[in-house]
Amino acid sequence: MAISRILIANRGEIALRIHRAAKEMGIETVAVHSTADADAMHVRLADHAVCIGPPSATDSYLNVAAIISAAEIAQADAIHPGYGFLSENAKFAEIVEAHDIKWIGPKPEHIRTMGDKVEAKRTAGALGLPLVPGSDGAVSDVAEAKKIADEIGYPVIIKAASGGGGRGMKVCESPDTLETLMKQAGSEAKAAFGDATVYIEKYLGNPRHIEFQVFGDGNGNAIHLGERDCSLQRRHQKVLEEAPSPVITSEERDRMGTICAKAMADMGYRGAGTIEFLWENGEFYFIEMNTRLQVEHPVTEAITGVDLVREQIRIADGKPLSVTQDELHFTGHAIECRINAEDPFTFAPSPGLVHTYHAAGGMHVRVDSGLYAGYRIPPYYDSMIAKLIVYGRTREGCIMRLKRALDEMVVEGVKTSIPLHRELLEQPDVLSGDYSIKWLEEWLKERED
Ligand code: ADP
Repeated sequence: MAISRILIANRGEIALRIHRAAKEMGIETVAVHSTADADAMHVRLADHAVCIGPPSATDSYLNVAAIISAAEIAQADAIHPGYGFLSENAKFAEIVEAHDIKWIGPKPEHIRTMGDKVEAKRTAGALGLPLVPGSDGAVSDVAEAKKIADEIGYPVIIKAASGGGGRGMKVCESPDTLETLMKQAGSEAKAAFGDATVYIEKYLGNPRHIEFQVFGDGNGNAIHLGERDCSLQRRHQKVLEEAPSPVITSEERDRMGTICAKAMADMGYRGAGTIEFLWENGEFYFIEMNTRLQVEHPVTEAITGVDLVREQIRIADGKPLSVTQDELHFTGHAIECRINAEDPFTFAPSPGLVHTYHAAGGMHVRVDSGLYAGYRIPPYYDSMIAKLIVYGRTREGCIMRLKRALDEMVVEGVKTSIPLHRELLEQPDVLSGDYSIKWLEEWLKERED
């Protein structure tokens, strides 16, 4: 039976995004929400809504039993997890499938493999993806670690196998501090993730973050949809993303994209995925794979014309990929600004009542957001309240349009990162695309001084 009613196990703009794709396919939607989100736009627009618990995410959006009950009560035949929350929880995916509900996501075993960083790296290596030089798996012995670090050269980075969100990493500059830092990394990883396992990699000094969007049908067919450059980051959180990357030629895109797509085909990967690389001096180095839809997926949609959520739903329904690699063309340029409810320069969260809201519009301007005038942003969740995605035939045209669109955006009542984006788009390095993952933090520091 084809999917006819999807439960969306998420909130905010991504819940709306999934709702829209579903409706355009003639599929009904079921929203779930915490008591804090009763008035949220994703609840208002969905065909059905079920309250799944109190404000705390642990008791609501992460509450597996409540979500499964909601799906059964509302007779949903599929669940889309969005990003964050339960989207990369292999156990949840298994539970969904065990209830005869279609899981709009990758096979649980692939979520599990890629969720363990040591396992992910080993798998990526075996599939032919280029790796950051480092230990072959976990290291516990200091003598062994020293030997590896000597071989790859300092500085090295010690990473927690179960780490995530940019946490659980230590940069080590010389052999003298390796033992101490390994011990520290191990005990911090144990405290934060319940697993002391660490591994070692070469520390790249000034890389860019470039990721490839991939899709598989689960039966050995896979495609890539090009790359996104997400180098503008603060504390490993992406701030602005663009596609294509200003530093990748079409030959490079074809070459790396083909390697990524082949890896996914060989794995029998199903659904959407993102293969993340650091890129330095023309070389790609795999860091991790995300087995879900990404926040920044709309920039890929803008330059390929493919609706990635529609594609996810089709694949979960057992249909083939709707485009072949040969049919895919990359046209123009797209940039996404993440707009958060926070102070634009101190980054202190700023939840509260939005009394005035006006979204930017016009040709090639897309705003993904659940905001409306009179909406109260709850303090319990992620601070991202909108994404502004702008397309242009050229990068220059895209930037001009983005500046125009940022000037049109009005969000009053709370502080937002809109002023940060306006200022960023005045910086020569941003305009020329000349930035690494270190750029934003260095710029913020200089700006403060
Ligand atoms: P997480 O799962 O915690 O996000 P990642 O492995 O994706 O961890 O790394 C997060 C970020 O840490 C990267 O985007 C990059 O900024 C930095 N980083 C990770 N590995 C290295 C490395 N070998 N050299 C330099 N920076 C790194």
